[in-house]
Amino acid sequence: MICCEKCFKDAEIKAIIKGINIIGDCEICNKKNVYIYNTEKNMELVEHFNGLLEIYTTSDSFPEDFPREKANLLKDELNDRWDIFTIDKEKIYTLVKNICSEKYSEIPDLFDLPIGITTLYQTGYLEENSLIKTFKWEDFVEEIKTVNRFHTNLVNTKVLEMFCAYATTSYRKGQVFYRGRISSSEGYPVDKMGAPPPGKASDGRANPLGISCLYLANDIETTFHEVRASVYDYVSIGEFELLEDIEVVDFIALDRISPFSAIDIELHSVNKEHLRKISNEIAKPLRRGDSSLDYLPTQYIAEFVKSIGHKGIRFKSTRNERGFNLAVFDINLFNCTEVKIYDVKSIKYDYDSVDD
Ligand SMILES: [Zn+2]
Repeated sequence: MICCEKCFKDAEIKAIIKGINIIGDCEICNKKNVYIYNTEKNMELVEHFNGLLEIYTTSDSFPEDFPREKANLLKDELNDRWDIFTIDKEKIYTLVKNICSEKYSEIPDLFDLPIGITTLYQTGYLEENSLIKTFKWEDFVEEIKTVNRFHTNLVNTKVLEMFCAYATTSYRKGQVFYRGRISSSEGYPVDKMGAPPPGKASDGRANPLGISCLYLANDIETTFHEVRASVYDYVSIGEFELLEDIEVVDFIALDRISPFSAIDIELHSVNKEHLRKISNEIAKPLRRGDSSLDYLPTQYIAEFVKSIGHKGIRFKSTRNERGFNLAVFDINLFNCTEVKIYDVKSIKYDYDSVDD
C-alpha cells in the first residue's frame, strides 16, 4: 500500500517520508507527485508505530481496576488522542495495519478489539509522571483560586520543567514584533508603547497584577485583534526590536509534541490532555467580565516558566489564526523603534451562538 507525506500531520513522520525521497502517487489520499511511502518496501515507519502500539493493552488483558468504559478501538485512539494523520479513521486503520503488518499477524486483537493505556489510571505512575499528579486541570484551577495559591502541591514541577525544556523556540537579535494601543489620531510616542512599569501593570494570562510583562504579536493584523480595535479607532502600532538572542517556551509546540519524539511515549500520553489545556488556556482572550481569579492558573504556569530561567512564552492568537503572541518577562529585552498610526476602516465579526 502506498501512502504519502500528505496523509500525515505529524512533523516527525512527514520528515521521515520526505527523507526517503521517492516521488509518486498516493493510493490513500490520491495526491499526485508527492513524497510517498510504500508499506511493502519501506520499513522506516514500522518501529515508530510499533513503539506507539506497545503502550496499549487489549481489553482481554485489562487489569481489574481499568475503567472499561474508557476503552477505544485503535483507529479511534489514533485519530482522537494523537494528531498524527490527515486522513479519516477507516483509512487510518487500513494504513496502520499495512505499516505494522508483522504486528498485525502476531496480535490482530490490538487492531480489532477495544484497547486502552493502563498507565493513565495507575495512581503510582500518575503521582510521579503526570503534570498534575492524579488530579484534573479543573482541580488545579479550583485549588489555586480558592485553596492554596502560592504553595500548591498539585503540580509536578519537574515534569513541567522537562516539557518546557523540550518545547522551546529561539529568536535572534534584531527580530521585530509588534504591540498596539488604541490612541488618538496623533498616536503615542515610542516611549509610551512599552509595557507598564513594575507596580503599575494590570494582570493578564501571563502576568500577575503589578508584575510587568511585555505582550507582543508577530504581525500587525494580530495586534489589531489583540487590542480589540473597533471601526473608526486609531491604533498606534509600535515596532519592537529584540536586543539579544533569546529562547522562549513555545506553548504552541507544547500541544503539538509528536508521539514519535524523544519523550517517553507513556509519559507523553498521561500528559497530552494537560498540555493541550495549558496551551489553550494561555491563548484564551481576556473578556470584559473576567475575574482576576480566572488568570491565576496560567499566571502560575508562566511564573514557573520564568523562575526556571526562560525569557518568555509564545502562544497562539485565538483572534487571528495565522498570528501568535509573545509574552516577554523582561520588558527591557525589546526596544520600540518606530510607531505608526492606523485608522480602522472596517472590521469583520465572526460569531457562534452560545446556545448550540
Ligand atoms: Zn497521501
